[in-house]
Amino acid sequence: MERIIIFDTTLRDGEQSPGVGFTTKEKLEIAKQLEKLRVDVIEAGFPASSPGDFEAVREVSREVKNPVITALARAVPSDIKKAGEALREARKGRIHVFIATSPIHMKYKLKKTPAEVLRLAQEGVRMAKEYASEVEFSPEDASRSDPAFLYEVISAAIEEGAGIINIPDTVGYSVPEEFRALIQGIMKNVPDMEKIILSVHCHNDLGMATANSLSAIKGGARQIECTINGIGERAGNASLEEIVMALKTRQDFFEFSTNVNTSEIYRTSRLVSRLTGMPVQPNKAIVGRNAFRHAAGIHQDGVLKETTTYEIMTPSSIGLEEGELVLGKLSGRHALKERLRRLGFRLTDSQFEAVFKTFKELADKKKEVFDEDLIFIVEEQTFHIPEVYSLEYIHTVSGNQILPTATVRIRKKDEVFQEAACGDGPIDAAYKAIDRVTGLKANLLDYSIRSVTGGKDALGEVMVKIETEDGIVTGRGVSTDIIEASAKAYINAINRLIYRREK
Ligand SMILES: [Zn+2]
Repeated sequence: MERIIIFDTTLRDGEQSPGVGFTTKEKLEIAKQLEKLRVDVIEAGFPASSPGDFEAVREVSREVKNPVITALARAVPSDIKKAGEALREARKGRIHVFIATSPIHMKYKLKKTPAEVLRLAQEGVRMAKEYASEVEFSPEDASRSDPAFLYEVISAAIEEGAGIINIPDTVGYSVPEEFRALIQGIMKNVPDMEKIILSVHCHNDLGMATANSLSAIKGGARQIECTINGIGERAGNASLEEIVMALKTRQDFFEFSTNVNTSEIYRTSRLVSRLTGMPVQPNKAIVGRNAFRHAAGIHQDGVLKETTTYEIMTPSSIGLEEGELVLGKLSGRHALKERLRRLGFRLTDSQFEAVFKTFKELADKKKEVFDEDLIFIVEEQTFHIPEVYSLEYIHTVSGNQILPTATVRIRKKDEVFQEAACGDGPIDAAYKAIDRVTGLKANLLDYSIRSVTGGKDALGEVMVKIETEDGIVTGRGVSTDIIEASAKAYINAINRLIYRREK
């Protein structure tokens, strides 16, 4: 069966989600997980956009060897040169050159004539060929471009050596039948299309990114650009998990396969959600919390009798396992080690000991420790951001008849600081006390709390987004005590800010 190439752009377009910014280490962590997921291509970044992004693309090229590593570049020499340099150590590097071809973009954004755009596209692809073994070309805003001009530009890019032509629905304007016709038109009217790979990149502004991408496959596209959890600019991109599971579940209809190891989908989704600070909506297809939950009595009854009555996919096909062995206070090292191994973690002895210690502390507070709890513990322990500040002690007093106050004791290397403050509530008071210790003035943009697992003894997970003059960072904290989780999340954000500043 012919394969569809899965091109993941979580690290590039996904990073363009408002409020999202990855550190190099975070990009690397996601790239390694994408490698496990067996995507074919990883778009690691846009090296000319910032020194940090250049560094991240270089690091991913160096460390992640199975997928093709792609770097984005405008059709300008300095961008292409930077992309080429960042990809130098890639086993297989690809430069993705783009220039807008729609009348609106050419006139107002580029202020260039079609003839100039055509020439820049040719020069860009030609130059990129000198720096990378593969070149992909995108006529930006293709779906709003004049088809005749689109054919001309694509044909010129192929002549210059582009091996992949990507058709973006940049503003998410297209609808499935129309987008398929656009792809078919290109296949029919551009010479030598059989020699190259046609790709699509759809945005979700009207909720049709997945539908448009799948429709394009029927029209001749063989590469799909997508992101984990569908994150990306504005309403996001086509979601990888939806594309992959649609192709797998409806293989009878599409007659294509992918190389993706679907049992890594859930873990990848959680990792991206954690590192972006963007929770997955509960009813999100495939990876939402409710995607495999049956509430109606008739449905539950049916599923118990025969799962296929209401389930078109199994939870295990995306790596969502029912916990078999219950871990608790009495579980020892061996049981924990075995469970962590099954969850796909490979820890060093010292990392394992740290995880074990936290696990024991948690098991004392909770009856059962779930797989999800363990994933959080491990992530917290192996988190690569140095803990410049750490919370030693927190005490808050609140109520509707008193002024909420908080006292915190925070360690910074060998020094210990203690401060107190009052606020609108205990969390606000705690944040003010922390601000006094760090001396940083942070503006809290977003605060969210949810329980990681069910029940009254659940772990609470707090995500915060703070803004300082250095930009926006997210932080995360987990505890069975929500005030402590809130303080930890805030301190985590500050540590990440310091880390970023030092970089
Ligand atoms: Zn995009």
